Amino acid sequence: MDLASGSGSHDPGEPPGPSQLGGAVESPTGRSRLQATATQSLSRYESQKRRDWNTFLQYLKNHKPPLTLARCSGAHVIEFLKYLDQFGKTKVHVTGCPYFGYPNPPAPCACPLKQAWGSLDALIGRLRAAYEENGGQPESNPFGARAVRIYLREVKDSQAKARGIPYEKKKRKRAGGSTPSTTAKAANTSVDDGAGGGDGGIISSSDSAPVTSTL
Ligand SMILES: [Zn+2]
Repeated sequence: MDLASGSGSHDPGEPPGPSQLGGAVESPTGRSRLQATATQSLSRYESQKRRDWNTFLQYLKNHKPPLTLARCSGAHVIEFLKYLDQFGKTKVHVTGCPYFGYPNPPAPCACPLKQAWGSLDALIGRLRAAYEENGGQPESNPFGARAVRIYLREVKDSQAKARGIPYEKKKRKRAGGSTPSTTAKAANTSVDDGAGGGDGGIISSSDSAPVTSTL
């Protein structure tokens, strides 16, 4: 098996893909139209990309008011990313939490679980590629919108602060790297659950059914 399937970087924390994602999202409304039969033969990245794409299309379908891909903007993409937070597995401390800024809190707290920045970043990369592979024009690619990049950077910065983790992993600095190697080392050991573990999928594990605030 060829691991270098075009994604460029080697992702260490890639768990087995959450194969229930497609089914979980499609089953409520009937999955007659699109059944991903060919995913078995695709590489993990490709099948993950396809699942992400189908998830996004499903999201558009369920959107209120209705939304088509052609009218989808960066703002909608950001809305989608926020929607995904309910499936997140990464504890992000609020500013009032005593463990704000602590990478390894000594006790549990009530702070929300969110999607790790690394997961969202990888997801956007896959969706951006999928959009163009499905006929979208690069210049109108909502996943490449500036607003999305800014949003991702904000998530990255705020999560780094809240979790006490500097996201310096995977950053290849060839020339003029100003980051001390000590922080990179620290990130490598502690950030695995967040930035590294996200490539297996956004919606996974037990959170298979979208549950919207019934509390
Ligand atoms: Zn907390």
